[in-house]
Amino acid sequence: VQAPSSDDSFDGLRLRNVTKSFGSFTAVDDLDLDVPRGAFFALLGPSGCGKTTTLRMVAGLETPTRGSITLAGTDITYAKPYRRPVNTVFQNYALFPHLDIYENVAFGLKRRKVSGVDAQVRQMLDLVELESQARKKPTQLSGGQQQRVALARALINEPEVLLLDEPLGALDLKLRRAMQIELKRIQTEVGLTFIHVTHDQEEAMTMADTVAVMNAGVIEQMGAPEELYENPRTTFVANFLGQSNLIEGEVKSRSSDFITVDMHGIDVSVPADRAHLDGDKAWIGIRPEKVLIGDAGEVLDAPGNSIPGGVVSDVSFVGVSTQYLVRMPWGQELQVFQQNTGHRRLYRNGESVELSWRPDYAFLLDHSQDAR
Ligand code: ATP
Repeated sequence: VQAPSSDDSFDGLRLRNVTKSFGSFTAVDDLDLDVPRGAFFALLGPSGCGKTTTLRMVAGLETPTRGSITLAGTDITYAKPYRRPVNTVFQNYALFPHLDIYENVAFGLKRRKVSGVDAQVRQMLDLVELESQARKKPTQLSGGQQQRVALARALINEPEVLLLDEPLGALDLKLRRAMQIELKRIQTEVGLTFIHVTHDQEEAMTMADTVAVMNAGVIEQMGAPEELYENPRTTFVANFLGQSNLIEGEVKSRSSDFITVDMHGIDVSVPADRAHLDGDKAWIGIRPEKVLIGDAGEVLDAPGNSIPGGVVSDVSFVGVSTQYLVRMPWGQELQVFQQNTGHRRLYRNGESVELSWRPDYAFLLDHSQDAR
């Protein structure tokens, strides 16, 4: 995790106290961010949370109301867009329709009258695997191919930072998944800093080595995808990255390793380093795929918290897994995803069951937050 540090030797992109207001509305609120050089960084959040505004400030298309942006120690807060070593790939590609693919990619270099244009264009077309399409016009290419031309056109300028604003948004799901892998390959190959804006949690987690989750103009949490998923600090992060069961509880006792919580009369333990609490009232969080379902009274094979008294209220077979809703004695329905490995028996609506999970799979969040 990139905890913002104060040394001056940082050679990546740094935002400090960056705020952007439009009239009385604050779109980006006092943002601190360190993106190391060469990182694949994702800004993830729902529509309107301020992702694009943040990106536009890095690109120079928007001026911060307050705060500073530096790149490798150089202040670029007020630098003109074309003066910064930053390029943007937009969702709508913005290719020149009258130029062929080769000329689209060559455009930036030719305008700057640099030498060796042909070799560089060939190299870029090779990188994005479009050598054979060089003489076609953009409209003769598929969406995914056009996206790769846009990428080549941005990369040929050798920016230090490449900004990607929902670049795969216009593609269908299958092509999107293929392009995610492709983008990751290209980023590794060229080794540049990529900052990718998306509202798709799966996309952010697939591609980025660091994800910052944004909500209402602030970053709620930043870290490696698996860290955000396994140990969310807020209910927003817990719900935005996948699905979570959040159950009310109250702290009974604390040790250095575990916190024991009273969950509707049942004691459950949660690792102390997964507790993000201010007071004693808590949300106990557990991912649906971490919950085991068994016969009522069965001693489940995982050593863990055992929660009796459930009744299956919905069963959905979805191929790789079976997804249950289980009504608990306190009235709440919990989600349980069971992998269809063939080893476990399936339950039907109305059956009495016992749930269980390993203590180290749960997390605790402060109850002052909304559970949704
Ligand atoms: P989306 O994924 O929908 O693009 P986003 O997270 O990128 O969302 P932004 O485009 O950064 O969100 O917008 C953040 C907020 O700032 C929104 O509420 C938006 O209406 C507001 N906003 C953005 N640009 C302006 C502007 N020029 N004038 C006024 N309000 C703006």
